[in-house]
Amino acid sequence: MKLRKSAAVAIAVLALTATACGGESGTAGDKPKDPAGGKNAPKLPTYTAAKDVKIDSPVVKKAKSVGKLTIGAKNDQPFLGFEDTDGKRSGFDVEIAKMVAADLGFSPDQITFKTVDSGVRETTISKGDVDLYVGTYTINDERKKQVGFAGPYFMAGADLLVRKDETTINSSEDLKGKKVCSIVGSTPLQEIKKPKYGAKTVELSKYSECVQQLINNEVDAVTTDDAILKGYAAQRPTKLKVVGKPFTEEPYGIGMSKDDKALRDAINDSLESHLKNGDYKKAYDATLGLSGSPFSEPPALERY
Ligand code: GLU
Repeated sequence: MKLRKSAAVAIAVLALTATACGGESGTAGDKPKDPAGGKNAPKLPTYTAAKDVKIDSPVVKKAKSVGKLTIGAKNDQPFLGFEDTDGKRSGFDVEIAKMVAADLGFSPDQITFKTVDSGVRETTISKGDVDLYVGTYTINDERKKQVGFAGPYFMAGADLLVRKDETTINSSEDLKGKKVCSIVGSTPLQEIKKPKYGAKTVELSKYSECVQQLINNEVDAVTTDDAILKGYAAQRPTKLKVVGKPFTEEPYGIGMSKDDKALRDAINDSLESHLKNGDYKKAYDATLGLSGSPFSEPPALERY
């Protein structure tokens, strides 16, 4: 896995601060920054819904019959899956969702996003309460016993978010006796509970709650994927920083019903075509790219 450059982070954070804090007088970092990237953000691609789509998938057939596709997502991950106070969703995961939905024949206004946090993803997908799930969802064999995955469309790695003035935590080896917050049902929480880290875990249901505890000095660090943590750090650059030493690999997939192979294949084809036609990079640069990590090609699709 490629590690990202801290210089690029600094430049992007400066750019973000410059574009997003126009109205704030001398309070840079105290107010969260605009996760949609502000007015000068690069343009998002547009997606045209395919016509006469014929996919032999029970999920697609049901969604067609009701005229909408329900997609599970996060709502508190800036630059990835974020919902503002007007209910507008933004972020790289939201764009990936729109891209694949278009190829299944659904325009952006035919998507209903539903917030589903990490701890309830598998049950929500298996019950059919969402048709697809796009939300920093690591593909792994344990989860594949319950759900299906297309992708990966991105590679992240677990890292640590700490307060800006923290000097004692410089890698995952420095967590002995430290209070580390993460969320229920996530792979980084599972990892950090291993005895070798010696950390005391605080287990909540939303990352934004962990970040608040970090700012309030209630915990020493937050762990989850670097991509998520960089979003929080970019929003509050004077208060928070990412340690920058990823200690796991987290390939992101699109979750769906376990045995719907036709849907899995169609979505893998869709991801492949948007990577080729440049939509993918364009979407990345206008969302997650703003939090400091330059675009890199995703790993090869894992078709099965
Ligand atoms: N990618 C990790 C996972 O799927 C952490 C992020 C999340 O909780 O969504 O568990």
